[in-house]
Amino acid sequence: RESELFNLSNLPSETRDGKLIHLKANIEVAEELDSVHAYNASGIGLFRTEFLVMQSGQEMDEELQYSAYIKVVKGMNGLPVTIRTLDVGGDKLINEIAQRDEKNPLLGWRAIRFCLERTDVFRIQLRAILRASAAGPVRIMFPMISGIEEFEKALKILKGVKRELRSEGIAFADEIPVGCMIEVPSAALTSDILARRADFFSIGTNDLIQYTIAVDRGNEKITSMYEPFHPAVLRLIKIVVDNAHDAGIPVGMCGEMAGDPMAAVILMGLGLDELSMSSFSIPEIKRIIRSTTILEAEEFLGTLMDMKSFKDIDHYVREWMEEKF
Ligand code: PEP
Ligand code: MG
Repeated sequence: RESELFNLSNLPSETRDGKLIHLKANIEVAEELDSVHAYNASGIGLFRTEFLVMQSGQEMDEELQYSAYIKVVKGMNGLPVTIRTLDVGGDKLINEIAQRDEKNPLLGWRAIRFCLERTDVFRIQLRAILRASAAGPVRIMFPMISGIEEFEKALKILKGVKRELRSEGIAFADEIPVGCMIEVPSAALTSDILARRADFFSIGTNDLIQYTIAVDRGNEKITSMYEPFHPAVLRLIKIVVDNAHDAGIPVGMCGEMAGDPMAAVILMGLGLDELSMSSFSIPEIKRIIRSTTILEAEEFLGTLMDMKSFKDIDHYVREWMEEKF
């Protein structure tokens, strides 16, 4: 079985009827690149930068960030690298930059909300990312966007940083794609509006599930309620994918659900263009994709979307998958 999966590694991740679905890797540090290559990821779908930015401490360190980004960009040899801007706060790593007391940190001052206020921190990160974009294909992605206002504000700051670099004579990719993470229900429901401004979407299911079902992703007492196959979650994903495609932009997923073998056929049916996951999950997801047609996946999904409870959906998915794989 191991060797069967390994043999897949040089084959494309296309469905049995020939649709290519990009399988990319989630990383946090450049040291993970060996494993990214070992599993043949077709790019980095999510470079989480919290660790890196926190490492640079109170004095935001542009050079430290730049050297990590450039290492990853060069190390990927021309494959695209999606760098997500700082997502501090909530349940994430907090140091002296982002220390605070909040009653509801998960609903609080985190991610893009933090960056839009602490533009000093944000601009340094954008400078470092833009500089790295001169060395290979880089995409920028903003986390926790809740609506178009935030996205516009972030774009405006990015524009300002580009202007600044230009005036300093520093090289960067002017056409760098800018994407929006969809991980807040309000963003999912207004994704038609966001899709007109974004170059791509990436669905963050870890947070999207948490905020849709109002269930803390880290609270063990309620893990049984944290249900990726909840009809509300599936409906939201469908809305996002359809709105992205109507606007002609690609849509990926970078939450844990993207690397869950039980979810793979559902995500094929929903029409995801890209799945980003821990590198070691890639071979198994590829195996499932390569042995299923889009038509099969759409039929399977159609049955699920008509079911009323996540228990029924879960049960049906498990039985279907066991029989087929
Ligand atoms: C997500 O929310 O699904 C996601 C990919 O981001 P994070 O897990 O870093 O919040
Ligand atoms: Mg998230």
